[in-house]
Amino acid sequence: MRTLISFEDALACVRDQATTLSSELVPLGEALGRTLSEAVVARANVPPFASSAMDGFAVRSADGQAGTTTLEVIGHIAAGDAGGPAVTPGTCVEIMTGAPFPEGADAVAPIEWVAAREGMSVTFHRFPEAHKHVRPAAEDVSAGQIVFEPGHVITPAVVGMLATLGYDTVPVSCMPRVRVITTGNELIAPGTPLESGQIFDSNGPSLRAQVRAAGGFCPYHEHAKDDPNALADLLSGQDQTDLVIFSGGVSVGDHDHVKEVLKEAGAEMFFWKVRQRPGKPLAFGRLDRTLILGLPGNPVSSAMCFEIYGRFIIERMLGRHATTPRLRARLGRDMNTVSGLHFFARGIAGVSPSGELWVQDTGPQRSNLYGSVVRANCIIHVPESADHVPKGTMVSIQMLPWAPLQILPQNQE
Ligand code: AMP
Ligand code: MG
Repeated sequence: MRTLISFEDALACVRDQATTLSSELVPLGEALGRTLSEAVVARANVPPFASSAMDGFAVRSADGQAGTTTLEVIGHIAAGDAGGPAVTPGTCVEIMTGAPFPEGADAVAPIEWVAAREGMSVTFHRFPEAHKHVRPAAEDVSAGQIVFEPGHVITPAVVGMLATLGYDTVPVSCMPRVRVITTGNELIAPGTPLESGQIFDSNGPSLRAQVRAAGGFCPYHEHAKDDPNALADLLSGQDQTDLVIFSGGVSVGDHDHVKEVLKEAGAEMFFWKVRQRPGKPLAFGRLDRTLILGLPGNPVSSAMCFEIYGRFIIERMLGRHATTPRLRARLGRDMNTVSGLHFFARGIAGVSPSGELWVQDTGPQRSNLYGSVVRANCIIHVPESADHVPKGTMVSIQMLPWAPLQILPQNQE
């Protein structure tokens, strides 16, 4: 087991260990937020046939006269009809939006361009040039085209495209099954009266929410006292789990038993302690096929380290090709950090009136101040070589996917 490794080495180790899970077929209506496990290839053209873009008349553009044009109406085609009569010189076919475009015609004169209509005769005050108001077949997607690569996240727009392509079930990667286990004698569940010396277990609910927001399956969280036997009991029989996240108990205090219990259970630990703040005591290992992530108990450290490591593990297990983006932003005020430790500051990023991405920290960064997580919409990454980062420096930020960018007022630029 390695200890006090760099942030980059820790991430590389996580990348190597967390691999894509197997896949399953789900109904399209339940696919939102899941990740495609296979490429989606268009089985047919979209649209499948040429159709009218307007309510009007399918015409031959060559029939247009200077001034008005009068044509004989030889048929009517509505959306859903299989087709209509071919348009010959001097004739036209009345056509509705979405109806299949008839042979012989090359444009649509919209209903608004009709000057007069009498029996089978229609007169236009304006006439279309070729291809006007016609939607060609395959304009959007051609049969055989790769529309989505594996690893694509299913957004509402992806659902729309899959339905357009005729998919009613979708192959997706299985959701990682995650257990969240909080440790600490001082913790009780929210909703219970607090006794002296107790605090509410906030990491249980927040980590579970973070797991779910990242695409993992975590129907409940669990809690263990700082007791090696209780922890060992919880650890047995979890072969169905892809990832166990411990909160607390990974430090060096008298009551921090997670490491020793994992060791006794036969876990292979890859690293313990990373040169980072917050979250220096961070443990990562594997027990049989289950990955183990031990996060510090401090709510700020727990939340930040989940976003950096836990989310990454889940994204890797889902096989997502777009992991949480890193962006470059200009620092809006000086920041002091700790030389020798990679620093994750809670940041507020926004777009300036001129369109530039700016960021500043949320204020005091001590790891017991959970308000700094609530105010943040990103994590500012400061490499371990820096101890002071002056205003104006370009820094690397990682957006928190649940918090929107801000629009910064003029005076912050
Ligand atoms: P630990 O990592 O167990 O030493 O915990 C560090 C600090 O975080 C202590 O002040 C704990 O009381 C607090 N803490 C640990 N776990 C939780 C939790 N689940 N919810 C809220 N605070 C916690
Ligand atoms: Mg503890």
